[in-house]
Amino acid sequence: MIVSPAFAGKRYAVLGLARSGLATVEALAASGAHVVAWDNREEARLSVVGKAEIADPLTMDLTGFDGVVVSPGVPLNRHPITGKAREAEVPVIGDIELFALARPSLPPHHIVAITGTNGKSTSTALIHHIIGAAGIPTMMGGNIGLPILGQDPLPKGGVYVLELSSYQIDLTYSLDADVAVLLNITPDHLDRYDGFDAYCASKERLFSMQSPQHVAVIAMEDDPSRLIAAGVQSRLVPVNSGMIAAADQAQWPALQGPHNAQNAAVALAVAHALGINDADARSALKTYSSLPHRMERIAEKNGVLYVNDSKATNPASTAPALAAYPPVDGRARIHWILGGLAKSDDLDECAPYFANVASAYTIGEAGPLFADILRPVMPVDDSELLITAVRRAARVARSGDVVLLSPACASFDQFRDFEARGDAFRAAVEAID
Ligand code: ADP
Repeated sequence: MIVSPAFAGKRYAVLGLARSGLATVEALAASGAHVVAWDNREEARLSVVGKAEIADPLTMDLTGFDGVVVSPGVPLNRHPITGKAREAEVPVIGDIELFALARPSLPPHHIVAITGTNGKSTSTALIHHIIGAAGIPTMMGGNIGLPILGQDPLPKGGVYVLELSSYQIDLTYSLDADVAVLLNITPDHLDRYDGFDAYCASKERLFSMQSPQHVAVIAMEDDPSRLIAAGVQSRLVPVNSGMIAAADQAQWPALQGPHNAQNAAVALAVAHALGINDADARSALKTYSSLPHRMERIAEKNGVLYVNDSKATNPASTAPALAAYPPVDGRARIHWILGGLAKSDDLDECAPYFANVASAYTIGEAGPLFADILRPVMPVDDSELLITAVRRAARVARSGDVVLLSPACASFDQFRDFEARGDAFRAAVEAID
């Protein structure tokens, strides 16, 4: 675990004792901090007995505390802890901020911090893979991987690769990333922000925390990203998907589609900024294997390819999946399974690729809405259930076709999370003869 003199004698309240909360309590306690911890679940509270004082920060006087540590799942705009901490003039922070504070006592290292609406996990895993392949010690943290404070520090020269959602950035104040990365910004998570501008401002803070001599890698493919880039001109490394040649991308099996050209372009720029030779970085792209639920090739049955892209929870992340399988000999090939809990009431971002779709199969709460949008432009099956959609698609798909789960929606109406939805897709595919 990460232990630091930066926390000795300090007082922290930790709210929420799931994986990262627990690792936080342990790291702070081992560093000599006084920790107050709370979770609504009793068994979670019991797990920190002996390491922390058990009390609810919402019912305490927080004056004099050095921070209230919350998980990124806590909606700061609605949760009472925000006002309570503000009254006591105590910052509300996350484990990434604690990691940033611990940095001076860690062996010399570099940090790559990655944000964007879509592609964060893929780019994080890809960059981590390239660094590892170059023989440099590396670890993933943030949204992806294990809680950062629970892991042993990297030896000298190591590179921490952090995936940061805007929620995590909102809980971070002093992370000076050696390389900060922005992939793209499209409307998402608007329930947690006062509008799109506030969401963009959250992403922008990753760069305002950086010192001027560090590097900003930004994909210049949407207006909000270009605007942020304009503010960091002197350290900007601008990239775009067009920098990746189709012939090169064809050799990277787990990085198909235009969105992965963006991820690869970003990853190569980061590798360059870290001093990794371009040929080595490119050869690592060939050996990268995709994360589960992101354009994951599940099976090929009777010449039909089944692809699980359950992680595509908004239209902007589904669009590139549709773009990845263009018609062959003028015949559209995609059997597109979509729907769930809608984040938007249109599919405008997907519309440029509708011609790639042979047939749509709608599921979940958004099913009827999406069926109405799509029916004028393509055949639609109102399948309602994922398993029905898979069975019907398998029945009509021909050799060379692709059955693609890329829902453009959250999963919570029918599934616990996007992973459970992807697992259900896999099970349904496996059941096909
Ligand atoms: P995140 O961690 O930001 O949610 P992931 O890498 O898990 O991103 O990918 C989420 C979804 O977005 C996947 O379905 C994938 O197909 C799509 N996607 C991946 N990279 C990009 C990108 N650069 N631009 C747009 N969509 C992307």
